[in-house]
Amino acid sequence: MKRILITGGAGFLGSHLCEKLHNGKNEIICLDNYYSSSKQNIIHLLQNPRFELLRHDITFPIYIEVDEIYNLACPASPVHYQRDPVQTSKTIVHGAINMLGLAKRVGAKIFQASTSEVYGDPLIHPQTENYWGNVNPVGIRSCYDEGKRCAETLFFDYQLQHNLDIKVARIFNTYGPGMHPNDGRVVSNFIVQAIKGKDITIYGDGSQTRSFCYVDDLVNVIIKFMKTEKGFTGPMNIGNPNEFTMLELAELTLELTNSKSKIIHQTLPEDDPKQRQPDISLAKEKLNWEPKIQLRDGLERTIKYFQSL
Ligand code: NAD
Ligand code: UDP
Ligand code: UDP
Repeated sequence: MKRILITGGAGFLGSHLCEKLHNGKNEIICLDNYYSSSKQNIIHLLQNPRFELLRHDITFPIYIEVDEIYNLACPASPVHYQRDPVQTSKTIVHGAINMLGLAKRVGAKIFQASTSEVYGDPLIHPQTENYWGNVNPVGIRSCYDEGKRCAETLFFDYQLQHNLDIKVARIFNTYGPGMHPNDGRVVSNFIVQAIKGKDITIYGDGSQTRSFCYVDDLVNVIIKFMKTEKGFTGPMNIGNPNEFTMLELAELTLELTNSKSKIIHQTLPEDDPKQRQPDISLAKEKLNWEPKIQLRDGLERTIKYFQSL
């Protein structure tokens, strides 16, 4: 039996990880301050004596005994991470230092939820792990992008200096059941708007692209990655390489929801990346993994979830 700490465990990805890892064998400590989530996602797990919930902010130290740490705490939607950008940087950077300090003290293996945002508005396509990125250090996305870049640096320096067992994954856009209806990211926005018959808000002309991964595929590869030998650290891209424009996503959402909502265009936010697609050769080769659930199927499942809410 392992004792596993999941920071951001009540959030979208964290709650799926809690669900998957708490399989009777492991003891889960789910840590969250509910900055961009609520208890709702994990409330059904509370009955289990091997599941423990901690209200805590990772910018403050915490002393507990664990075998593994999955560090996911951090608002992921631009709307939420831009609301209090200083807190976002603190969560990412101070949070990483505290979790690395904890991992160092107890000898725990530690996973970092990094992001495709480390590539910024990428000038090479698709993005490979050896690309250093094109990031604005002083824009509205910087608290998140530069924070996550600094966290990667910290992870690799703790490995270098303290021989920590680290796993760093660069996660590309992921969606699915469990997203908050007010999350603000594109998939949940479009689905909620379509179901409610409200206008579908495309920012800019809708020609910008993203590659969308269904949550089950992503959680599977995170767990596989965590099981690899010490020294296989990443950074490793994880996501689904199938790429869509936001216009295509809007049209598919309208079709699958049978909605009569109108598409409207709003201002494109500053520094919004124009294209994004992961090169997942490393994950394929090393973990024998590739995503199985494609957008149409994944969207149908996500639509059912939002309809049930
Ligand atoms: P989310 O916002 O649903 O979950 C983040 C969780 O972290 C929330 O429950 C929030 O309350 C919690 N949190 C925020 N600040 C905290 C703090 N200071 N202390 C403790 N808890 C705190 O987002 P998500 O999509 O589940 O993302 C999880 C992680 O994966 C994030 O680190 C994010 O950067 C990363 N990621 C996600 C995606 C994606 O597409 N979902 C893509 C790239 C990276
Ligand atoms: N820390 C923590 N829990 C622990 C051990 C450390 O929260 O079990 C925090 C503590 O705040 C510390 C930080 O992690 O400042 C970094 O720890 P490290 O041992 O690397 O550095 P130091 O203690 O020398 O600052
Ligand atoms: N977007 C949009 N309408 C929305 C929300 C987002 O057109 O209601 C666009 C956004 O400008 C970006 C893409 O969809 O180009 C993905 O945005 P999201 O916030 O999901 O994540 P990002 O990948 O930008 O961090």
